[in-house]
Amino acid sequence: MNSHNTILVVDDTEDILMLLEFDLIQAGYKVITAHSGKQAIEVLSKQAVDLVLLDFAMPNTSGMEVLTHITNLTELSPPVIMLASATEESGVIKALDLGAEDYVIKPYINKVLLARVRNALKLKEKTYTLETLLRTDSLTHVNNRVGYEELANKVLSHAKRNKHRTAVAMLDIDHFKTVNDTYGHEAGDRVLIEFTQHLVSSFRDYDIIGRIGGEEFAICMPNVSIDSAFDACERFRLTLSTLVIEIQDPEQSDVTITVSIGLTITTNDDLSLEDLMRDADKLMYQAKSLGRNKTIVNPSLLSDKVDFNDNKPKESDNLNTNELGSTSQDKYPGIEYDIGVNNVLGDESLFEEILVMFYQDHGEDKQKLMQAINDNDELTIKSLVHTLKGVACSIGAMDLFNHTKALDVAANEQNAQEFDYLFKPVALELDRVLKGIEEKLASQL
Ligand code: GH3
Ligand code: MG
Ligand code: MG
Repeated sequence: MNSHNTILVVDDTEDILMLLEFDLIQAGYKVITAHSGKQAIEVLSKQAVDLVLLDFAMPNTSGMEVLTHITNLTELSPPVIMLASATEESGVIKALDLGAEDYVIKPYINKVLLARVRNALKLKEKTYTLETLLRTDSLTHVNNRVGYEELANKVLSHAKRNKHRTAVAMLDIDHFKTVNDTYGHEAGDRVLIEFTQHLVSSFRDYDIIGRIGGEEFAICMPNVSIDSAFDACERFRLTLSTLVIEIQDPEQSDVTITVSIGLTITTNDDLSLEDLMRDADKLMYQAKSLGRNKTIVNPSLLSDKVDFNDNKPKESDNLNTNELGSTSQDKYPGIEYDIGVNNVLGDESLFEEILVMFYQDHGEDKQKLMQAINDNDELTIKSLVHTLKGVACSIGAMDLFNHTKALDVAANEQNAQEFDYLFKPVALELDRVLKGIEEKLASQL
């Protein structure tokens, strides 16, 4: 039983739908019902589900049509269990050929249905884990080359449609061989891990970070100007050179490292990821030959400043009043709408979906945090606060972000006496943000 799993149940027969909903909720699942194929497709366009129970025979949009739609989804498709009557069993073979996971004959036996649901969910979990492993670097846990290229290519095609600029940086740690030779391979690994952690915390949540080779990394920055991309690289490089990496060997002193960076940006729609990475790589080698510990940008890109419209919202944008006299911030209290939308590359409907997910995933954070503070459960406090901080920033809930950040610092410094008073503003602001989303959702029903 896993209460986190959401199952979409699709059937045009009202009593079967109610019965399925009842049985699945009893078993601890979250259930969404759809009365027709069309409605099922609508639900799937708005939210991700873990499994679909799909009636084979429905008027208008049939089960087979919905199944085809699901198997063609660009994201990882949820598994589908077909619901069919005994006479439809031969038709169900087609559904299995088309990609359905399993089928259940109606009228169904509750225990059999639940066993098949459990199996399908288990398989989904395994597939997801394998898909993730294929794309993740096992040492540093960021994207490996495969994962990086897949995500960066998505960013580029999105940028082409929306006329955004995408920057790509290649980074190579300087004299890393000397680190291994002096301190040993294990210390080298430690350095790679800390280097990556510093990368992740220095760049924006939606920048794509990948380990491309041994001590070579790439960053794909969606929707930036060359100036801000350059600033980000320089901020990272400068703070890296002051980072002291502790190694376990008492005989040796701690390690510091530097990095050489090559940075480029799209100048027209035709540049492929391969072109950008090759250009950035060349610039990175220039940085090496010019003495290392530098960020190099092609100067012709920098002189083109007028055209590089940084799509970050300007402060004044948020205060601009539209004809109705409301500001963009009014859409959702506590959320700087433009920042949030900008963080998902200007895709408003995606942003609205993310807000719904935020509401679902963080609706109980206040209670959970309060409990963890009462229990003095530092691990839970840290993990809740850290996640909330990141997500608040991504959705443009900047006040919530700032309050959470203060609590995050206290949690990291284990300042337990400060938890209570730093928690209050977080709780108030979280309430405000959640209430705003809830009201908006209610008004849309
Ligand atoms: P440069 O400044 O010119 O980049 O010099 P460098 O020493 O960093 O470059 P070089 O390419 O000569 O050496 C890279 C080293 O990185 C050699 C290799 O053993 C080491 N390396 C690659 N992958 C790993 C890894 O996963 N762990 C450790 N510890 N070392 C690695
Ligand atoms: Mg190197
Ligand atoms: Mg190298």
